[in-house]
Amino acid sequence: MLEEFGLQDMPFICAQCSFCQVGHGACPTYKVTRRDSYSGKGKMLIARALIQGRISRDDALEGLRDAVFGCTLCGGCEEVCQVDIPFVKVYEILRGEFLKRDLWPEQLKMMKNVLIKSKNVQGQPQMDRVEGWSYWHPDEDGLLEKVGKPAETAFYVGCASSYRGVAIQATIATTLIMDKIGEDFTLLGEEEWCCGAPLIMTGDFDTAREFAQHNIEEFKKLGVKRIITNCPGCYKIWHHEYKEMLGIDHDFEIVYGPVYFAQLIEEGRLKEHLKELDIKVTFHDGCDAGRNSGIYEEPRIVLENIPGLHFEELPHNRENSYCCGSGGVLRAQDEDFCLRINELKVQDIERTDADWVISACPSCVDFINEGLPEAGSQKRSKDLAVILAEAMGFTWDGLDEVYGQ
Ligand code: SF4
Ligand code: SF4
Repeated sequence: MLEEFGLQDMPFICAQCSFCQVGHGACPTYKVTRRDSYSGKGKMLIARALIQGRISRDDALEGLRDAVFGCTLCGGCEEVCQVDIPFVKVYEILRGEFLKRDLWPEQLKMMKNVLIKSKNVQGQPQMDRVEGWSYWHPDEDGLLEKVGKPAETAFYVGCASSYRGVAIQATIATTLIMDKIGEDFTLLGEEEWCCGAPLIMTGDFDTAREFAQHNIEEFKKLGVKRIITNCPGCYKIWHHEYKEMLGIDHDFEIVYGPVYFAQLIEEGRLKEHLKELDIKVTFHDGCDAGRNSGIYEEPRIVLENIPGLHFEELPHNRENSYCCGSGGVLRAQDEDFCLRINELKVQDIERTDADWVISACPSCVDFINEGLPEAGSQKRSKDLAVILAEAMGFTWDGLDEVYGQ
């Protein structure tokens, strides 16, 4: 399969320098396991030996499978690799090779069944995409009127942000901000299917294509030209992986939430609404926004423009950011492994004076918010959209329920 994507040389160009094991932001799974095979270098060396027939398939495939799937797709190895191996793509393709050979992990088969049946990765009713949380919204009727309404701008919510309590608060915050500045936007509601990220990330490109095509058709029916999403996983998939991994070209402008908010600030459209917020925060660069999409400055522009907010960088930030452990569909396979990675993130957070860890990723906020209390920390995590909405004076019931404010 690497050949289909023109990447067949990748296992052969690794220079074995081990940067991918020791770089600051590099391999969380290697840091936790201390096994070569879990780093970029290890996986490339096994793949090379397999292709050259130097090790037997039986010996190599099982270990390679564990390592290829036991990865958060955080992009740390890709960031530091001195020969520029595009690791995230390579791993997605290798995962597809295991699917082709019927060697996919059992948990992924279950996840795929849930996705095909439910159209969302949580296995929840599609009719709850918006109606499942709209009662938390201060303008429930106004929100529901937007579902299926023709508009040039759409808000693509994403699965985590439609169904997980902490993540939903960022969805509510974003719709409140968009309403406040008079943005005319639409929501797909129960016609919003998963973007296909869990399928692309695990190499099931054919099934992912069906999900992508459904959403594209639905947006076209409503005359949508611009799609805003708060989830950097959805952003990455819509923005470049549909083209790169599925060969799908679409004409939509894809805008990541923090980039949209930073634009509003730079245009002066939020200035009169921003009030003082006397809190100490730090910022976690989620892997899909940071290393995998190169977006670092916009969330910081948002934070720096909130009056009264005290901002402190994490010891490991931007391209050196520690992964929170929740990516790469690893959480669906091995939650304990993810929690061990999360512990490293929590230790990094504990080295700051911040009371709140802000991030702009529903999965990161959710997972960090679980990891902090488990480690005995008093700190909590919130989405950037939530902090911005609070600085604009918004309050709503869901926020009280989730954070006990
Ligand atoms: S993507 Fe992240 S977890 Fe996976 S091998 Fe690279 S550095 Fe390790
Ligand atoms: S950083 Fe790149 S070249 Fe160096 S060992 Fe890792 S994969 Fe190989």
